[in-house]
Amino acid sequence: MKTGRDYKFWFCTGSQDLYGDECLKKVAEHSKIMVAELNKSGMFPYEIVWKPTLLTNAMIRQTFNEANADENCAGVITWMHTFSPAKSWILGLQEYRKPLLHLHTQFNQEIPYDTIDMDFMNENQSAHGDREYGHIVTRMGIERKVVVGHWSDKKVQEKVASWMRTAVGIMESSHIRVMRVADNMRNVAVTEGDKVEAQIKFGWEIDAYPVNEIAEAVAAVSEADTNALVEEYYSKYQIILEGRDEKEFRQHVAVQAQIELGFERFLEEKNYQAIVTHFGDLGALKQLPGLAIQRLMEKGYGFGGEGDWKTAAMVRLMKIMAAGVKDAKGTSFMEDYTYNLVPGKEGILQAHMLEVCPTIADGPIGIKVNPLSMGDREDPARLVFTSKEGPAVATSLIDLGNRFRLIINEVDCKKVEKPMPKLPVATAFWTPQPDLYTGAEAWILAGGAHHTAFSYDLTAEQMGDWAAAMGIEAVYIDKDTTIRQFKNELKWNSVFYR
Ligand code: MN
Repeated sequence: MKTGRDYKFWFCTGSQDLYGDECLKKVAEHSKIMVAELNKSGMFPYEIVWKPTLLTNAMIRQTFNEANADENCAGVITWMHTFSPAKSWILGLQEYRKPLLHLHTQFNQEIPYDTIDMDFMNENQSAHGDREYGHIVTRMGIERKVVVGHWSDKKVQEKVASWMRTAVGIMESSHIRVMRVADNMRNVAVTEGDKVEAQIKFGWEIDAYPVNEIAEAVAAVSEADTNALVEEYYSKYQIILEGRDEKEFRQHVAVQAQIELGFERFLEEKNYQAIVTHFGDLGALKQLPGLAIQRLMEKGYGFGGEGDWKTAAMVRLMKIMAAGVKDAKGTSFMEDYTYNLVPGKEGILQAHMLEVCPTIADGPIGIKVNPLSMGDREDPARLVFTSKEGPAVATSLIDLGNRFRLIINEVDCKKVEKPMPKLPVATAFWTPQPDLYTGAEAWILAGGAHHTAFSYDLTAEQMGDWAAAMGIEAVYIDKDTTIRQFKNELKWNSVFYR
């Protein structure tokens, strides 16, 4: 999947010119060693680039503006080795527009008890200088991440690495373009929203196309190309006929292959990275895009059902943020369907009509052809599978009329107790934290949707930090959630974000 750029992060060490050349030489040496070791650690999804020590207002301003202008720079990591008077940072910070991380660390891990003197103290005073710097960033109301600890500590490195993904999400949000080939489903509230405000807040471009324009692109796909893709499907997935005629089954599958190719070409030609469809508005398309959309999601496209452009953009965003995660378990569009309310076994069965991303699949993936319970088209082919176990996040971005809110729920994915042989869709099953009852109550109180953007490969913290950088409200539903506290939080937030 294309995420846009070969991003890098700049490492900027703060000091001042009062310390003398000898001290400043050591400051530069130390920061160079740190950057080299951090890059060698293999912990970071993106390279860290050392920058000369920042000493004066002019240098700080110039460096931040260079960071703005460098399209491969996804953020700046700042650290005050010594004391750096923070008024020097005001102009640079005012003009800086990219993600900012304050790494509150120091070169040495341990106090050198036997040798420490005042020279050492003056040279190694992050505890002092980082507070001065932190003060001005807070006073200026600038959103940033603060990570505390020794730079060689694996936990510290993990936090910085995790933030890098958030930073790339912040940078790439403005490159997300959603193609709507159908409007929101009639009368549905939660999938609606203010597209102008979404572009102002997140940078998303959300454009409508007549469904028959994309249907023409589908019709233009040659039989040879279609058949080649059908062959690929047949070699890759189990064919589950369930009594259907082999030839008729294959024809249904071929319709989806043609849709996949036609949609992909149309999206690529017009530079869109996410798409919404609607089962009630299919124009000349013969089937609701099912298998086709599942494959496009696997390739990194965002998707939302029934015209849900907010979730489509979120799925794309989360796929970008999770790109390249080691042993990734997947990211998908998802929908809350049915509960299991048996005590001790509570959970929510997740699926959609068809469109669940195969990146989350566990075990074999099959193709089935079944009637759709809604709409008026021929039986669509779809990929069927069950999903992986383990912790994950489910997010819902809603428009409250005067603002957006991101609801972030930590969930535990499980296997259902028994197979569901008559259910012809891909599924996941999860229990929301802290438990189904509190989790679902909090979700409903927050106004969360039935559609979610879901990932095993991202954390609630990453999603919340992204929301904070976008200047929108985020609420977490996790192991610490209590309803009394959560209701108060919603009330307080309504005042803050008014
Ligand atoms: Mn839906």
